[in-house]
Amino acid sequence: MDFSWTDEQEIWRKTARDFAQKKIKPKVREIDTNKKIPEEIIKDMGKLGLLAPTASTEYGGAGVDWTMAAIAAEELGRADISLAIPVLYLVEAAWGFIFSQYGTEEAKKKYLPKITSGDAFCGIAVTEPEGGSDIVGAAKTKAEKKGKNWLLNGEKIFISGITESSKWGGIHLTLARTNPSKAHKGFSFFALPLKDNPNVKTTLFEDMGRMGISTGGFTMENVEIPENHLIGKFNRGFYYAMEGFSAARVLIGATCVGASEAAMELGIEHIKTRKAFGRPLGSFEGIQFPLAEHHCNIDAVKLQTYRAAWTMDKMYKENKATHHDVAIAAAIAKLRAPIYAFGVMNEVADWLGATGYTKEYPIEMGIRGVRSYSIGAEGTMNIMKIIIGRELLGKEFLPYK
Ligand SMILES: Cc1cc2nc3c(=O)[nH]c(=O)nc-3n(C[C@H](O)[C@H](O)[C@H](O)COP(=O)(O)OP(=O)(O)OC[C@H]3O[C@@H](n4cnc5c(N)ncnc54)[C@H](O)[C@@H]3O)c2cc1C
Repeated sequence: MDFSWTDEQEIWRKTARDFAQKKIKPKVREIDTNKKIPEEIIKDMGKLGLLAPTASTEYGGAGVDWTMAAIAAEELGRADISLAIPVLYLVEAAWGFIFSQYGTEEAKKKYLPKITSGDAFCGIAVTEPEGGSDIVGAAKTKAEKKGKNWLLNGEKIFISGITESSKWGGIHLTLARTNPSKAHKGFSFFALPLKDNPNVKTTLFEDMGRMGISTGGFTMENVEIPENHLIGKFNRGFYYAMEGFSAARVLIGATCVGASEAAMELGIEHIKTRKAFGRPLGSFEGIQFPLAEHHCNIDAVKLQTYRAAWTMDKMYKENKATHHDVAIAAAIAKLRAPIYAFGVMNEVADWLGATGYTKEYPIEMGIRGVRSYSIGAEGTMNIMKIIIGRELLGKEFLPYK
């Protein structure tokens, strides 16, 4: 066992950190207020290989593995504690990878180079109005063949990147029922462009946090897309979606680790200098004990996150792990990381006293942003527990068929 980074990983981390600390960190409040990530940041991320970095180099990706993808996610979370840029990064890294693995040549050539350069967006559209956790039971969106095209009808809701996709172009990987008589084996996955598509009507939600990236929904009324926009095999869409969610969950772990580290650094600086009763706050046991607890939590979830990334690399690079190994490792990281990140941010807000309740510090942006992950983005906390339970007990103990 070796916990050190390779030279390549160190260089990648340094590149991501230098960029994120110099170019992103000073702009986070502006991003949160203006509800928009500046175009030059997106373009610079593209130049550095930080957009859909896991996509194949053939289509403009950096072709990095999951450990490298997690390293960059951690650095982006450390710089943008609001988590807007980390969300954009991890959504494109996870779903750009799935598209790169299973998309058709024609569709990949059309969209991926633009996604990796920052000229188009790549998102995921699974959740529907009747429920996200039980998508198999709730999904109403249907796709059927019409001549050489696919015809889509239905509605998706709580979808990240609606404004980005509508303005920049790109695709949302969209899950639709293609065999209503089957459950998990009755879904297919499609690359759906939202921009300039008159039969797609979008809406936007006013979120509580991660304001730099939009969330909304869209309806599809007889939306026609070319045959080559089917991703992977017909009726295998549910499984590609689960594969992408595991990848996204690992990167959520890494962004939360980065944001937690940033919050902790801010808190430590404050408790070393701020005095009460004639002593620095940090000299009180009532401050040091939670400090130690939060440090242990971050350390634990960092190990869990990088073990999940390592398991992904074992599966994709060496074929020495299965999706079951990945699913449980990713669910553990996703279950713990947002909760621990929220815990440390909340604690640091206390240490800051009244200024912790102001916008002088970025902590309040972090608290608002990280709740998106514990409420539900990429699966709720209870769903993570169900996945872990299923892996420990077997599928016969699932609460549904
Ligand atoms: C900021 C944000 C961005 C998002 N972005 C996207 C996106 O880009 N694409 C996309 O497809 N989706 C996206 N989502 C949606 C997300 O995936 C769903 O919110 C999530 O899957 C939960 O679905 P739901 O909101 O319908 O809640 P529900 O499924 O209705 O769940 C409500 C509550 O019930 C609990 N629950 C459900 N079933 C069980 C059970 N069997 N046992 C115990 N408890 C249970 C859940 O844990 C949850 O607490 C996003 C969500 C958020 C908040």
